[in-house]
Amino acid sequence: MGESKKPARWIVYLKQLWNGERFPSVEEKFTVICYALAIVHMLLFPMFFALDVPLMAIFTLFSTGFYAFSCQRMIKEKAFFKAFVLTYCEVTLFACLATLTIGWNWGFMMYVIAISPVSYFITYSLPQRKRTMTLPVIFSLLAMIIFIVAKNISDIYPTFVTVVARKSFVSFVYLCNCLVTFVTIIIFSMLFSLEISSKEKELEAQNSKLSDISSVDPLTGLLNRRSMSTHLEKAVAEVKSTGKLFSMAIGDIDNFKMVNDIHGHNVGDDVLVMVSRVIKETLPENATFCRWGGEEFLILLPLVEADAVPVIESVRYAIAQVTTKVDKPEGYIDLGVTMTFGVSQYIHGFSIDKIISIADENLYKGKENGKNRVVHSKTII
Ligand code: GH3
Ligand code: MG
Ligand code: MG
Repeated sequence: MGESKKPARWIVYLKQLWNGERFPSVEEKFTVICYALAIVHMLLFPMFFALDVPLMAIFTLFSTGFYAFSCQRMIKEKAFFKAFVLTYCEVTLFACLATLTIGWNWGFMMYVIAISPVSYFITYSLPQRKRTMTLPVIFSLLAMIIFIVAKNISDIYPTFVTVVARKSFVSFVYLCNCLVTFVTIIIFSMLFSLEISSKEKELEAQNSKLSDISSVDPLTGLLNRRSMSTHLEKAVAEVKSTGKLFSMAIGDIDNFKMVNDIHGHNVGDDVLVMVSRVIKETLPENATFCRWGGEEFLILLPLVEADAVPVIESVRYAIAQVTTKVDKPEGYIDLGVTMTFGVSQYIHGFSIDKIISIADENLYKGKENGKNRVVHSKTII
């Protein structure tokens, strides 16, 4: 059987980048920028050489070396801001020199436009720059002023060098410079939106993790008291809007202190987990329940009391049937617990606290009268 060929690593990388699953590190971003700039300058060297403009040819040679070596070293040393400022200066100086040397119509001043969005991106990407807008605004305004001044100077004064070149060649270089400018702006705009969307995804994941942590009891995995309060408020609001009544039960494990005292706190925890599992498995899907605190559980059912009592009775019965295995020196023992429930129903005009206190009173009655039972308003004791 032929093994299916794995896609190349760079294809996987680009795909992940596109889907916002990963984002290039600051080092990777700067390395790409530097090599791209080195290539652009390297390509310009033969052009200036052929046009017989030695000053610009030497400049491009130095710039190529700067991007290929010095800038790479700064990146390795994590001097990103220094690398950006020097790049900004080099690009601006190169654009101005090229324009003043051979003329405006070659389109070199467009590089100054291309570098402007990069300063915003760099400031956003570098955590140490604290994402303040001051620096990128200064950089881009400066670029704008330099662009306008260069245009005026080249309109008034003749070029340093008079080059002999075909009009079509000048147009070709102009178009190439347009291309470099557009590609730079497009790539950085894309990187910017990809970075923002990847940060948003990260934030969403963190938020949902946080909201899970804050709404769930870590031991039993059930909702905690705080998030249950939201469900209780919702249930009351629903009665008011739809008229559908609900019932509530508070259950408390019988003699739980004894479980802890005899078998230890860890066994007590195992019992709590077991009881939670049984409650979860026995209750219907429309029930909402939580660990109300300690060894108490609160159950909310969208039913009137008469219909809720048999459901709670089935939970009580199920708990009384199951046991937790306890590892003792003399061997395993099966530990069973029972639970007492107090039930109440929503009554118009009653606050949620009042309904909870009625369920609590019924629970207390159940404890007083022998435990392991479900007590509701109509129970005759
Ligand atoms: P009753 O039948 O009247 O409810 O008696 P009880 O012993 O269950 O009630 P009591 O309120 O005296 O004891 C409750 C115990 O539950 C005391 C407390 O240490 C224990 N408890 C509360 N939370 C936890 C927990 O998270 N883990 C364990 N293992 N024990 C807990
Ligand atoms: Mg208790
Ligand atoms: Mg108890």
